Amino acid sequence: NPEVKKHTFEAEVAQLLHLVTHSLYSNADIFVRELVSNASDACDKLRFEATNDDSLYEDDGELKIRIAVDEEAKTITFTDNGIGMNETDAIENLGTIAKSGTKAFLDKLSESQKQDGQLIGQFGVGFYSGFIVADTITVESRKAGEPSDKGVRWISDGTGSFTVETITKDTRGTSITLHLKEEYSEGEDNYLDRGKIKRLVNKYSDHISLPIQMRKEVWQEDVKEEGDDTEDQAPAGGEMVLTDEWETINKASALWTRSASEIDDDEYIDFYKNITYDFDEPLTWTHNRVEGRVQYTQLLYIPKKAPMDLYTREQQHGLKLYVKRVFIMDDAEQLLPMYLRFVKGVIDSADLPLNVSRELLQESRDVKSIRDGNARRVLTMLASLANSEDDAKQEKFAQFYSEFGDVIKEGLGEDMSNQARIAKLLRYATSTNDKVETSFEDYKARMIDGQKAIYYLTADNLAAAKNSPQLELFKKKGIEVILMTSRVDEWAMNFLTQFDDTPLQNIAKGAVDLGDLQDEEEKAEAEKAQETMKPVVDKLKTTLGERAKDVRVSNRLVDSPAILVTPEGELSPQMIQMLKQMGQ
Ligand code: ADP
Ligand code: MG
Repeated sequence: NPEVKKHTFEAEVAQLLHLVTHSLYSNADIFVRELVSNASDACDKLRFEATNDDSLYEDDGELKIRIAVDEEAKTITFTDNGIGMNETDAIENLGTIAKSGTKAFLDKLSESQKQDGQLIGQFGVGFYSGFIVADTITVESRKAGEPSDKGVRWISDGTGSFTVETITKDTRGTSITLHLKEEYSEGEDNYLDRGKIKRLVNKYSDHISLPIQMRKEVWQEDVKEEGDDTEDQAPAGGEMVLTDEWETINKASALWTRSASEIDDDEYIDFYKNITYDFDEPLTWTHNRVEGRVQYTQLLYIPKKAPMDLYTREQQHGLKLYVKRVFIMDDAEQLLPMYLRFVKGVIDSADLPLNVSRELLQESRDVKSIRDGNARRVLTMLASLANSEDDAKQEKFAQFYSEFGDVIKEGLGEDMSNQARIAKLLRYATSTNDKVETSFEDYKARMIDGQKAIYYLTADNLAAAKNSPQLELFKKKGIEVILMTSRVDEWAMNFLTQFDDTPLQNIAKGAVDLGDLQDEEEKAEAEKAQETMKPVVDKLKTTLGERAKDVRVSNRLVDSPAILVTPEGELSPQMIQMLKQMGQ
């Protein structure tokens, strides 16, 4: 048929499909969630577009998702009356991978060779998950606002190619039919089982704010036939029969609009899994109705694990923006500062306009006020974990810190108004404690008599820090030094010069003045050394020439004869390396 056009999948899609079908069979269930979420996204998109042009509803404003099972044909069909796709959309959306996150997922999967179902969740392999259970998928769609003879049928067996053809489709939206593989249409993994589908929808998609419907089943008694008098021998039988009626199977309530006191932990956890596709429970969350200059509801979660792309530029913010329960956008990065980009959740504000765009968000004072409110709330939540007497909460904070500690350090430079709050959350190893658990407050409490500054040292790793000659004098004097070994530390510490009125001093930089901690005798000795060492210093200066900025006699060394230091106000070797890695 010349009307049927064959296309080959982009190489990456083919690779993804191979992985999906070969390594994710143990998570077959997820296709239900993915297809329902796509249908829901499509409805959200329509509702959004229709705020400017309500003719798009075409007299069918009741957005919904329907799931139908056909036991004879061994198919399951997901139908929505959302935005729909035309031929170009279908080729583009179902034949290529637009998202860089999915590419990262692919690399990770093939690199680790781990058949890790958790990963699929993080990256949302989405539509292609249908091929775990189906040997053929047929998509029929018609875009809102376009004529009915501009529909499209897309068919693929999930290997190398797909076909598209033009069809006539009166109803707006998309229907996706999975032709189930043998092993998924019988036995334990039988997705033709309506009860199973219903359970999966309830588990994953209960909070989708649209009705999800299936055909209603009713129990029908055997009808006694005329002249049949076997009534006494056989018990009355019956069977479940399908009616033409549809019933809504999900709760369809927007969780965040309910009052916190009415919501139990399991509901919060399910909702989190629902919006993030994380298989893990969240570490913690906070849910508030904020009444201030701007009124909004915030439901913010902290995940247990950092995503793999936390440090790449493509990192998606997991915050969804709603205006009066109408979904506006995913990834609303304006609603959180960068250093809190790992926070997931929902913001719903009645004070923003429905047609708010990303550009508008950038300029809006209301948005700034929401962002500030969110940042403060997250920091407060973290502080209360950190300061809790409760072991479980402290454990949670430790877990949080090992996953996200380095990210919040960015906040020292990014968010001056919260710098002090952030500094209180930071934890480090020190010269007397290898564990990353000492706060600046702890350190201050342990400072020795006469000590006037918090001393720290940055290095590539703990071993290098502990063996640094810079520590010699401090060790001798019994002064604890904070050891900072993460990539961001030195950059971040440029912004933090004091903690609670105590200055912070990098002992690797410039001259270290121990002040009162040096006794008179030591000072006199140091002065004498300046004199006696002068010929050596001069010799070194001429020999090193341009290669050294200065050569000085130091009193900071105990065992080592010499040491390289970075002049005050200049980039250290670690810093230069970090900037190089960042491509600067
Ligand atoms: P994602 O949903 O994360 O974008 P998917 O693989 O789940 O990725 O879907 C790919 C794309 O296919 C979607 O972005 C959307 O453009 C399109 N799509 C999938 N399902 C539907 C649907 N039911 N209606 C309209 N478009 C759809
Ligand atoms: Mg999707």
